Amino acid sequence: MEIDMEEKKGDLLSFTREELTEYMEKTGQKKFRAVQLYEWLHKKLASDYSEMTNLSKTLREQISSEYEIYPLSILDKVVSKKDGTAKYLMATKDGGVIESVAMNYNYGMSVCISSQIGCRMGCSFCASTLAGLERGLKASEMLAQVYLIQKDMNKRVDNIVVMGIGEPFDNYEQLIRFLGMISDESGLNISQRSITVSTCGLVDKMYEFADEHMGVTLAVSLHAPNDDIRKSIMPVANKYSIDEIMKACRYFSDKTGRRVTFEYSMIHGVNDSGECAKELAGRIKGLLCHVNLIPLNDVDERDYRRSPDEGISVFQNILQKYGINVTIRKGMGSDIDAACGQLRKKYIDKKVTG
Ligand code: SF4
Repeated sequence: MEIDMEEKKGDLLSFTREELTEYMEKTGQKKFRAVQLYEWLHKKLASDYSEMTNLSKTLREQISSEYEIYPLSILDKVVSKKDGTAKYLMATKDGGVIESVAMNYNYGMSVCISSQIGCRMGCSFCASTLAGLERGLKASEMLAQVYLIQKDMNKRVDNIVVMGIGEPFDNYEQLIRFLGMISDESGLNISQRSITVSTCGLVDKMYEFADEHMGVTLAVSLHAPNDDIRKSIMPVANKYSIDEIMKACRYFSDKTGRRVTFEYSMIHGVNDSGECAKELAGRIKGLLCHVNLIPLNDVDERDYRRSPDEGISVFQNILQKYGINVTIRKGMGSDIDAACGQLRKKYIDKKVTG
């Protein structure tokens, strides 16, 4: 995807280790300087050149005249009184607004990042797509979400889910670059096994992703047991059928040995009946997978409402009876508009109405 950004200075965080080495060599520096600089940026998360004390002042001045460090800044932060979930509104250099969320679990801190500014997939239960797609994020802008949150929370990020605003596979090249850099041993070194990428089911990219041989978990936003229901809530279903998605999931788990997670938002009266549960079980039986039932956060602009808790439990029990591994996602930050895209939308609406 073409990224059209007017930048006065270059984007230092976007250099891989190899590219940084090339740059340093071109400027007459020794190779190990590139490793030092990479570590300042991606391991020690320096946000100012003055912190890089083992690099000469002249070198720092030279780099800072050409490159900026952070391509993002924090605009706002809302913290849940219930569970400490923190939702961040971040601004890109060209005026884009995205969201990222930090959640504390007993196994560590998990950060959910955005992969695009807006989204063009049009899922009818999602606030992130209401204003369409502005552009895909650069790898550096995905990294910066993780780094800024780790610094702000003063706590190591243990898990990453690429499940915020945007469809990651619609920004494939930058996503792969991000995954390589975030798991680089000279950087934050987050294990690929602690990273989940979520797609609404872009089948061709699912095959490509399986062939990358990464240890990353794949989550598929399924949200329906058949094509008719899926088409009524997700336009992407007009392009790819559930059969095609299942075939790609099988390919992914055969290639990687990793199970696939199916995300299933429980929308009252749409996809939450006992019949739907049985049909879903039939579809995914025998697949190395896990189902994550998500109590829908109501979105004001849409008519959809969340299924009652009792209905969600019944749905879960039916899947379990068929031997399907299933959990109900814990509602995090329900008091702070934690549903994807809601905080961003409020910010944009406020700007428009002044
Ligand atoms: S659910 Fe995901 S893919 Fe669908 S519109 Fe929202 S951000 Fe895009």
